This record gives sequence, structure tokens and C-alpha cells, in this order.
Amino acid sequence: MTTTEGARRVAVVGAGILGASIAWRLARRGVRVVLVDKGGAGHGASSHSFAWINAGGKEPIGYHNLNRRSMEMWPRFAAAVGDCGDPDSVGLRWGGKVSWESNTAAAKALADRVRLLQSWGYPTRLIDACELKRLEPALDVGDVTAAEYSPNEGQVEPQMVVDACLRRLRELGCDVLEYTEVTGFEQSDDGRVHVLGTSSGDLEADVVVAAAGAGTTHIAALAGVSVPQARSPGVVVRTNPLPRLLGNVPVVYAPALDPARPEIHMRQCADGRMMIGEGDQESLAEDDTQAHADELLERACRYLPGLAGARAVPVPVGWRPMPLDGYPAMGFASEAPNLYVAITHSGVTLTPVLSQLAAQEVCDRTPADAVLGPYRPQRFDGITLDEVASAPNPRMAKLR
Ligand SMILES: Cc1cc2nc3c(=O)[nH]c(=O)nc-3n(C[C@H](O)[C@H](O)[C@H](O)COP(=O)(O)OP(=O)(O)OC[C@H]3O[C@@H](n4cnc5c(N)ncnc54)[C@H](O)[C@@H]3O)c2cc1C
Repeated sequence: MTTTEGARRVAVVGAGILGASIAWRLARRGVRVVLVDKGGAGHGASSHSFAWINAGGKEPIGYHNLNRRSMEMWPRFAAAVGDCGDPDSVGLRWGGKVSWESNTAAAKALADRVRLLQSWGYPTRLIDACELKRLEPALDVGDVTAAEYSPNEGQVEPQMVVDACLRRLRELGCDVLEYTEVTGFEQSDDGRVHVLGTSSGDLEADVVVAAAGAGTTHIAALAGVSVPQARSPGVVVRTNPLPRLLGNVPVVYAPALDPARPEIHMRQCADGRMMIGEGDQESLAEDDTQAHADELLERACRYLPGLAGARAVPVPVGWRPMPLDGYPAMGFASEAPNLYVAITHSGVTLTPVLSQLAAQEVCDRTPADAVLGPYRPQRFDGITLDEVASAPNPRMAKLR
């Protein structure tokens, strides 16, 4: 694979799962890439992520389909970036997700969601308590009013993906600058960025990819570009490493105990640690205390008795990159025509497709409008920071 315009210098700002993957895709095409991160690679949202690969809660159908396309790309992507073509080397594991509800209202919502997803051709289905128990015998499911199984979903280890990208980049002779903060840009009269100011000195680039996660708003603003975000803190605690507990189904959503103790989700990492989060994939959470971690583990233990004796390890709050309306923002900016914005929620699920399209748009200058048209950063033009500060829930913002 080669670029149509020959090798160019591209600086990718942000070495999370999305930025590192874009950098690797560009380098494979012969582009001279420098990947810059103000911290250690992967230490942003990617290291806090529950990293469940799914298209279940993604609406409307266009966004659902984008996620599905990316899910289907994961095996090839993992094999291509992983060591010796081995998807296991990035912790990719399939086997699906189960969830169940015990109260009637929540059970109806679950059944409605399954029916909607089925109408979109998603291979999810309602199951009964016996099948739930058979699918994952390690679970103590209690009362089951409705249950669901989505066999096509899975999980991955974002840090392993980032580390693999870095190995591939170094093999291709590219520079990776960790602990190097981008602090400003030199721009020409037409807004084009030609120099990045960093804490380690200036860097020249023909194209800059702003994939700085929650920091993308700041990076873009340095170039006069508006990429507003909603505030989206999340907490997923861990345990000490444990023997494999979930033998068949890697991702489990267990019901709320009462309104103050909402649903929890859990999965086991490749290193044996169990991850436990509360609420859904967009729930705001900032309690990263040991007491809260202990409480989440206690709740998880009710559903997964094999967790008895495990130790809860609190994890600091993670900041989801969250464009104001909750959807990706991908593409060249109007105000800085060689600055490519790449920010998304659900970035673990979406990395294969978004990194591929970003590399294509940067290398070929062929807009992938058929897929990315609804997700251009220009939809935020004219939004002021005051409006952002008072923004409601992301998907309620209805910018599109
Ligand atoms: C609690 C939680 C649970 C999640 N669960 C899921 C899930 O189950 N499934 C899913 O698909 N997604 C999930 N996500 C979302 C997903 O993790 C993110 O969308 C994804 O990790 C974003 O990757 P990224 O590379 O865009 O950003 P990040 O991983 O945040 O990387 C951005 C990088 O940019 C760097 N940076 C920032 N500013 C600068 C600067 N000025 N100079 C240089 N570098 C800079 C940062 O240091 C950071 O390393 C979850 C996120 C969280 C927080």
C-alpha cells in the first residue's frame, strides 16, 4: 500500500487506541509519522475503558451500522496489528454478552431493545433463565424476568492494542514521543498548521491528526477549531488477578438491586483482573474511592460467587472523549485545513473503522462522506463554550 501523494510528514497527537491505530495505518502506507503523547501511550481514556466491543446501545441505525462494521473489522485489524498475526496478542476475545433484569419495567425495556435490534438484523435474542444459566454457569442469576444474549459481542485490551501499534510503528522507523505535550501551533495565513510547539521542541508536519481524546477540544482550540465536548467521567474498578471465572460469555450485565444501586457490568481482563462498572456505557461516575470499589465488588459477588475473596482495586476516574452530541467527530477542520480531528466515544469498538477511514482521508484526500458525512467536526461550527458548559446529556443535544 502506498500513498497517492507520496510520503508526507504526519504528526498524530494522542497515543490512545484511536491515535496509535491511525498512526500505524498511516505508517503502513509509507507516511512518515510521529506519534506524540503528553503522558505514557495508552494512559488516557483507553486505559480506563471497559473495552466491550458492541453495537447494542447505539442509535440511530446509521450509528449502529458504523459500530457493526467496526465490530466485523476487529478480527482482521487485531491480526494485522498484533504480534505474528495473532489477535490474542491484543486480548481480543469473543463469546458475547448476557444481560438480564428482574423487575418488570426494566425487563420490558430490555425486551423492547432486543426487538429493535432484531429489526436491524442484529443477532441478539431473548433467552430464559435456564439458557442464561447454561450459557454462563458461573453466574448466580437470581430472579430473571427477561434476559438477552448477544453472541457477536466481545472484548479487547486497549493497552495491548496501543503497545502493539507502537511496536509496529518502531519497526517501520517512525518516532513515538511519549511525555511530550503539544502546546501550540504555528499556522500560515490560510490556517494551515506547519509547526507544532511541544514540551520537547518544535516539530514540522504537513498534516496534524488531533486524536487527543478528552484533550482534543484544547488541541483543536489551539488551532482556532471548535470541537465541543460534554463532560463524561467514568469509573471502572478492578480486582487482583484471578483464575478465569467467566468461562463462556466474557461480558455480563447484571440487574440493579434498587434505584441507588443500578446495574453493574463486568468482564475479566487478559491478565485475570475482573473489571466492574456501574450503570450503562455513558453513566457519569466520579467516585473512585476504595469504599465504592469495595461496594461494587460486593454487588458483583452476588452475581458471580467466584469473586469471593477477591480484592477490589480502585481506579482513578477516566474521562471519556465525548463530542457534544455523543457521536464521532472525524475530518479536516475548516479553520485549519490540514488539521484532521479524530475524536469519538465508544472508541474501542470504533477504532478499526475510524482509523481506517482517517488514514484513507489523510493519505488519499478522498473524502469518505458516505460513511463519515454525518460525523464531520463542522457540525459544531458556531457553538460557543458557554453553550457547552450548560450542555445537557450528549445524545439529548440534538445538534444533527
Ligand atoms: C470508564 C470508561 C468506559 C468505557 N467503556 C467503553 C466500552 O466498553 N467500549 C468502547 O468501545 N468504548 C468505551 N469507552 C470509550 C473508549 O475507551 C474511548 O472512546 C477510547 O479509549 C478513546 O481513545 P482515544 O485514543 O481517542 O483517546 P485516549 O485514550 O484518551 O487517548 C488520548 C491521548 O491524547 C493524549 N493527549 C491529550 N492532550 C495532549 C496534548 N496536549 N499533547 C499530547 N498528547 C495529548 C493523552 O495523554 C492520551 O493518551 C470507555 C471509556 C471510559 C472512560
